[in-house]
Amino acid sequence: MPETMAPSTALTVLSEEEELFRQTVREFAATEVAPHVHEMDAAGAFRPELLRKFFELGLMGIEVPEQWGGAGGSFTLATLAIEELARVDASAAIYVDVHNTLVNNCVLRWASEEQKARLFPRMTSGLLGAFALSEPGSGSDAFALQTRAELRDGHWELTGRKFWITNGAEAGIFIVFANADPSKGYKGITGFLVERDFPGFAIGKKEDKLGIRASSTCELILEGCQVPADNVLGPLGLGYKISIETLNEGRIGIGAQMVGVAQGALNAALAYVKERKQFGKPVAEFQGVQFQLAQMRTDVEAARLMVYNAARLKDGGRPFTTEAAMAKLFSSQVADRVTSTCVELFGGYGYSKEYPVEKYYRDAKIGTIYEGTSNMQLLTIAKAMLK
Ligand SMILES: Cc1cc2nc3c(=O)[nH]c(=O)nc-3n(C[C@H](O)[C@H](O)[C@H](O)COP(=O)(O)OP(=O)(O)OC[C@H]3O[C@@H](n4cnc5c(N)ncnc54)[C@H](O)[C@@H]3O)c2cc1C
Repeated sequence: MPETMAPSTALTVLSEEEELFRQTVREFAATEVAPHVHEMDAAGAFRPELLRKFFELGLMGIEVPEQWGGAGGSFTLATLAIEELARVDASAAIYVDVHNTLVNNCVLRWASEEQKARLFPRMTSGLLGAFALSEPGSGSDAFALQTRAELRDGHWELTGRKFWITNGAEAGIFIVFANADPSKGYKGITGFLVERDFPGFAIGKKEDKLGIRASSTCELILEGCQVPADNVLGPLGLGYKISIETLNEGRIGIGAQMVGVAQGALNAALAYVKERKQFGKPVAEFQGVQFQLAQMRTDVEAARLMVYNAARLKDGGRPFTTEAAMAKLFSSQVADRVTSTCVELFGGYGYSKEYPVEKYYRDAKIGTIYEGTSNMQLLTIAKAMLK
């Protein structure tokens, strides 16, 4: 900070620790991730050595206390990492996002001390996590899930199918929600910590997707999957609360991912319009183009402020559910709009895979769908208004 500047509480002014962390992730993304983005998108696969580097760099236990191998940092730091990675590759960002904001957070809040001591040292050093709630027949209506859990001879047996599970191809640990007492309706839903090598567990089909193509999205098949009684996550029957409250937090991460995607596309378009000449001058010199750039900058700034505000509310222990829903809703709308305009600013080249913006455009779309569609965010916001 220059000497003349006083400390500031402005949302975009980061602490020294936050600034240093952001810079580290930005450099990592530019040097280690960026060279592989195009090839990973085309192949629909993420490089395993990049996942290893996420762990080595301390990006996979940002909020986990140091005693269990984590960095003991804040939720805000996690959102900064997600935003920085998403500027370069939304797929890279979602690996870090799901592992930190869904899986680690859920374990931190709901697991027993014994479970944390048993799992976190592995989850901060190489064991990737996934969060399995959705099923073929239940998405927005998540509590209608059909996966069942039965207690047999001292262990649980899980039977059902999970759909759309991010990190599914590489994850070693899955938080799986199943109904242990359907007579109680959604109050039978329970969380389970399921490891990949448990008997009766298998990974099914991997989706071939529009965007975030390098991120794996898989079906999980549970056929009498045997889960030790020690691996129930949180109280029996509280899975509905555990899943929904975890997703409330996770949405801030998706907001950060969308801010990163929009910023990445805008940076690429800004450089392009200064280079591309039509009518004898750079297209950036046309006022119509300048207005498009200014509108995008304003939209991205507003989305970023909403994401940072929601993250800081959460770090401060204040209510944040509505702010998280608004941040996710708005930043995914902004990413959708901004990436679309950026494709147009590249003209015909924007439509080609040889230029970066068509990928940002495809990657942006997921923000309006996962961790609750835009309609579900509107429902959350409206419910809070009318309460
Ligand atoms: C790439 C990808 C990754 C994903 N990763 C995960 C993951 O890691 N873990 C996981 O558990 N799930 C994951 N999901 C699933 C995701 O959360 C669901 O797709 C999402 O919640 C929507 O559910 P659905 O697809 O069943 O759509 P539906 O619920 O069938 O919705 C269809 C349409 O109806 C609308 N709609 C539904 N109900 C209402 C209502 N009451 N009012 C107004 N509109 C309504 C929706 O907004 C949507 O437009 C992932 C999905 C994708 C595509």
